[in-house]
Amino acid sequence: DRFMEAAKFKYEVGMRDFVNKPCHNWGEFLSPKIALSAFKLDLLSNFRSYVAKYFKDQRLRTLMEFPVIFLGASPKDIPALYSLMNYGGYALGTHYPKGGFFQLVLAMQQVAERQGVTFHFDHNVDTLKIEKNKITSLGINGVDYAFDLVVASADYHHIETLLTKELRNYDEDYWKSRTFAPSSLIYYLGMKSSIPNLTHHTLFFEHPLDDHIDCISGNTKWPHTPLFYICCPSKTDPHVAPAGSENLFLLMPLATAISDDDETREKYLIKMLERLEKHTGTKKLYEQITYKRSYCVSDFISDYNAYAGNAYGLANTLKQTAVWKPKIRNKKVHNLFYSGQLTVPGPGVPPSILSGKIVAKEAIDLYRKT
Ligand SMILES: Cc1cc2nc3c(=O)[nH]c(=O)nc-3n(C[C@H](O)[C@H](O)[C@H](O)COP(=O)(O)OP(=O)(O)OC[C@H]3O[C@@H](n4cnc5c(N)ncnc54)[C@H](O)[C@@H]3O)c2cc1C
Repeated sequence: DRFMEAAKFKYEVGMRDFVNKPCHNWGEFLSPKIALSAFKLDLLSNFRSYVAKYFKDQRLRTLMEFPVIFLGASPKDIPALYSLMNYGGYALGTHYPKGGFFQLVLAMQQVAERQGVTFHFDHNVDTLKIEKNKITSLGINGVDYAFDLVVASADYHHIETLLTKELRNYDEDYWKSRTFAPSSLIYYLGMKSSIPNLTHHTLFFEHPLDDHIDCISGNTKWPHTPLFYICCPSKTDPHVAPAGSENLFLLMPLATAISDDDETREKYLIKMLERLEKHTGTKKLYEQITYKRSYCVSDFISDYNAYAGNAYGLANTLKQTAVWKPKIRNKKVHNLFYSGQLTVPGPGVPPSILSGKIVAKEAIDLYRKT
């Protein structure tokens, strides 16, 4: 309870005073209220020693540390502030929109359309045309479209490659020097029969967390004893698989910029299914597969232009937080803004949406001034 109370405090202060800042400079954080709460936010303590203060049982410690794997660094390098994620996931709860997460995307699309937004799907921005330090038009699928202002929400590094070198906020050395959050190996499976003893969400962390994390952010390689997550939405949602069968989503965090040929992917599918068999007391799950699709590092690069195939942006280390994240505004092209997981406040669906809100305010201010 004491751990969750402290995590709740961090969550509430973080949501109220931190995540909505454009982070142009540290002056934004100078307020008596923030100064008073700074100590209790545990910005300078590391996640591992912080969790150890509250929990003795190693299983509970690992349970609390597990979400950190998606932040891209060892719990000993992540500020204890991020225990706010434990409060979000375990105390506020993990929710599932009926029909899957895509329903939320469709709902947001409807809200935006009601407010006058027009979506153009399958349109690729190939070029940015710039005159006198302003974007005048975007080349989209080979056609030029004029714009007053651009909020670029694709991968930050990718957008910058569309600019000439002198107009970029960051050079290649900058990106190489960053610590990235992981990429992932994902499997989407259809299984022809029901899997007993399995719930909607299952985390597999029977092996040491640090061995896997070292393969992501230290000595990068495919992990020997991977930790992973399995989602079986058909356990609670009858619409995602035919009756009597199962829909499985397997997610294994993996280093960015790693080779991911089909043979290696398949090897890890078998490893994960063996662990699932052991956990559920089932056998020969591989033979139950009726649909199989994998997604990995090279797919993130080819489909999303994601730098080195990253799936979750930059790791949330202290040196890559707030003002030290890539800036939301281009320093030389006055009407170009950046949003999404590689800028403030950071990776994840809620922060990426918030970055859009932060940028919208900045963009409206600029538009009113000009
Ligand atoms: C498997 C997985 C599980 C996750 N689970 C969670 C979770 O449980 N909770 C959570 O909070 N977060 C989760 N995340 C992270 C979260 O999904 C991301 O942080 C978030 O979606 C990033 O949003 P974004 O807008 O920055 O980027 P994206 O959602 O990647 O959007 C960028 C868009 O830009 C498009 N684009 C790229 N280049 C161009 C171009 N040249 N022209 C036009 N369009 C272009 C891309 O196609 C893409 O649609 C997960 C991520 C993955 C991969």
